[in-house]
Amino acid sequence: MDYQAVLDEVAAHVEPQIGRGQVAQYIPALAEVDAHRFGMAVADVDGRVTGVGDWEMPFSVQSISKAFGLALVLAQDGEKIWRRVGREPSGNPFNSLVQLEYENGIPRNPFINAGALVVTDRLHSLTGDASTTMLDFLRAESGNSELAFDPAVAASESDHGDRNAALAHFMAGYGNLDNPVPTVLEHYFWQCSIEMSCRDLALAGTFLARHGLRADGSRLLSRREAKRVNAVMLTCGTYDAAGDFAYRVGLPGKSGVGGGIIAVIPGRCTLCVWSPGLDARGNSVAGVAALDHFTTLTGWSVF
Ligand code: GLN
Repeated sequence: MDYQAVLDEVAAHVEPQIGRGQVAQYIPALAEVDAHRFGMAVADVDGRVTGVGDWEMPFSVQSISKAFGLALVLAQDGEKIWRRVGREPSGNPFNSLVQLEYENGIPRNPFINAGALVVTDRLHSLTGDASTTMLDFLRAESGNSELAFDPAVAASESDHGDRNAALAHFMAGYGNLDNPVPTVLEHYFWQCSIEMSCRDLALAGTFLARHGLRADGSRLLSRREAKRVNAVMLTCGTYDAAGDFAYRVGLPGKSGVGGGIIAVIPGRCTLCVWSPGLDARGNSVAGVAALDHFTTLTGWSVF
């Protein structure tokens, strides 16, 4: 496959979509990002990476971190996490509170905010420092030792974090957090604030295309666990648009309100696309369009 030719074609195809949608407003530090950015990268299972547009420009990973958090917890703790978080699509916005009460403080899945807070809590208990564990892992897998948190984004999110605080306190009320709420929130905000480029994220996610093998060839996840993470990304990775994402793109994917999306083609490659304009459900407009065109051109969706 001539990845460069495919990416060039995808970039030309989505050009009219770039700048559409709205840059996330509820985290003020994110609202300052230029909506007209677009980048895309493909990293194959051998670690070769190809990109187009702004593919080397760092952006805020936000909820893409949730996929890595789940993988790190499964790697250390096996499948015990499923006692504390479900794995069904929520059909509700990523920051919704409504299902938590009638499901006794057990979030529907690890990729909505409530579920990710539980995963962060577990990762913190297992490692003593959830956000640094994640940063170290992302540095190793991307081969980019310069990766860092963005303190301005973390602070902005904390200052406007009432909704996430409500979710965390509510779950703590059901006994579903082991660490103090402020600790869990802090590590969650820090992990969301990590700045990475499409290049970094595509490389960091290749263990999901390699059925659990890390960049250095060691095993992070068993084949079964890697399959599980990809499955939950397919069904829950784009919140209440997961059905539409499967319909259009047909790949396991995980989006973030920074405008990034990673998507996995098991056995072949991991993709990352970034464009900050979001649709009403918080997914990148040009990003989803680019992945749709990529899988249509290559025939490489799981369908
Ligand atoms: N940090 C964001 C939040 O908690 C992540 C949301 C997202 O990317 N969908 O609201």
